[in-house]
Amino acid sequence: MNTIVQHLQKVHDRIAAAAAICERSPNDIQLLAVSKTKPATDVQAAYAAGQRQFGENYVQEAVDKISALKAECPGIRWHLIGPLQSNKSRLVAESFDWVQSVDRLRIAQRLSDQRPGNMRPLNICLQVNISGEENKSGLQPAQVEELARQVSQLPGLCLRGLMAIPEATDNSDRLKTQLLELKQLFDRMAEKYPQMDTLSMGMSTDLELAVACGSTLVRVGTAIFGSRNY
Ligand SMILES: *Cc1c(COP(=O)(O)O)cnc(C)c1O
Repeated sequence: MNTIVQHLQKVHDRIAAAAAICERSPNDIQLLAVSKTKPATDVQAAYAAGQRQFGENYVQEAVDKISALKAECPGIRWHLIGPLQSNKSRLVAESFDWVQSVDRLRIAQRLSDQRPGNMRPLNICLQVNISGEENKSGLQPAQVEELARQVSQLPGLCLRGLMAIPEATDNSDRLKTQLLELKQLFDRMAEKYPQMDTLSMGMSTDLELAVACGSTLVRVGTAIFGSRNY
């Protein structure tokens, strides 16, 4: 067995163990394999082990992989999880299944307008800045309701949930407070918008805490593909 396959199995085991502790079903927590900076052959290896959802941060790199793997790996769902500039929105609307990093109306409108009519609506998560760090992208929690209302009316998009990148901190109490705030906000929004079923939080180092706080999709790179060289 190659290492990617072993690592994937370990991550599934971690998710299952974390779910068991809080009496959640592991089936309610999806795994997004974050393949940014990694070659298409790594994606293929994970695909061969059954992985179907992949996350990318850089649009051009992702589009190259998407076209390279289109024929060989049918059924992959590609998620953009990195910042999106408006001049790249057409490429994204034409290539991805999900964009998790939407934090302003203008980009949402472009994605909706540019989504090809023969494709399903693009799944969207609103990115929320839960730590209040100034240099971080994402909406303030208080802005989520208004953008959700606007995005839910765009015909080329389907509003599916919320995403956050928490503060890089060793203080797990602090982290937990932030993750639980996002969970509360998510629950309020999901009451209003029944198609909102995705709370995207948790990465290689904090996925257990994220699962305990209600995450439905963890985004894991390093623990599957190894560390990244930029
Ligand atoms: C890179 C990245 C991840 C994966 O992080 P790891 O620590 O490698 O698991 C998850 N989410 C986002 C938004 C990322 O940019």
